[in-house]
Amino acid sequence: MAKESVFGNCAICGKHKQLAFGHVPPQSAFNECPAVGIAMWELINRDPDHYFEERRRISQRGVGDYTLCKQCDNDTGSWYGEAFAKWAHQGMEILDRVQGEATFFYPFRIYPLRVIKQIVVMFFSIRDWRFAYSHPDVVQFVLNRNERYLNPDIHIYAFLNISGCSRYIEGASRMVMNPAEINRDSIMEMNRTASAAIAKGRALSEIACRPLGYVMSFDPTPPDDRLSDISHFAEYSYSDWIPLYVKLSSLPLGTYLPLDYRDHDQVERDAEKNRRDEGDNDAADEDKYTPISEHELPPSPYVMWRDK
Ligand SMILES: [Zn+2]
Repeated sequence: MAKESVFGNCAICGKHKQLAFGHVPPQSAFNECPAVGIAMWELINRDPDHYFEERRRISQRGVGDYTLCKQCDNDTGSWYGEAFAKWAHQGMEILDRVQGEATFFYPFRIYPLRVIKQIVVMFFSIRDWRFAYSHPDVVQFVLNRNERYLNPDIHIYAFLNISGCSRYIEGASRMVMNPAEINRDSIMEMNRTASAAIAKGRALSEIACRPLGYVMSFDPTPPDDRLSDISHFAEYSYSDWIPLYVKLSSLPLGTYLPLDYRDHDQVERDAEKNRRDEGDNDAADEDKYTPISEHELPPSPYVMWRDK
């Protein structure tokens, strides 16, 4: 059911205006079906096989939110939406053919500049106005359709998402931790460092939709060697429609954690090792797994989605 009107600060132009429901990714790129989402705090310590069992949010018109004003939504959608949908449809054909986890160069025929601008628009959409406030040059990049060259500090990476679900991470920061030892304290610490990075406009974000997933990073080294840097798409002009070979790895989404591309078996093995390492200390460690209570949490983003 459509809400009557939602007002707020547009995540691109920053103006306080009526906001449009924007699909991420665009509706024409495999995002027109009802979807079920689940929030991060409900996923902690839950077996990935059972992520979608309870407390779901259902979005009848696909994944998206009220984040962009109508003008920014209409302008960017009309300039980049169709080119992005064609890129996504070519990606889906590849995904349907690909087996296993190999990395190959795949042929596309696309408008590279329009594709990367739509990806950047999607990252604006899942972040708040602070990102636009700290990066006026990136606002200009998406609001002027002919503008080329992305801020060199920003890297956009892509991969083929071979999972049956999607993952949306507004902001994360890099922390070294053993994924098998995620607990209440490490999650709270991760949230604190991510909040600080979001406030500075330099947090890492991930939109792992299907068929292709994307990561935006401010770090000059790739956050995962299997991710392919497609930032060079920004070097083309608006009218360039070209054949392009793009290197892509097939990666699963292991858990709700950003950049966790372990397959199901690896998640199981890590969990098993964690249980073994704990040995007989279960009782002593019990409060390590105390669920985080609602009142001590920030608003909970819906991070995992799949078709209803
Ligand atoms: Zn706007």
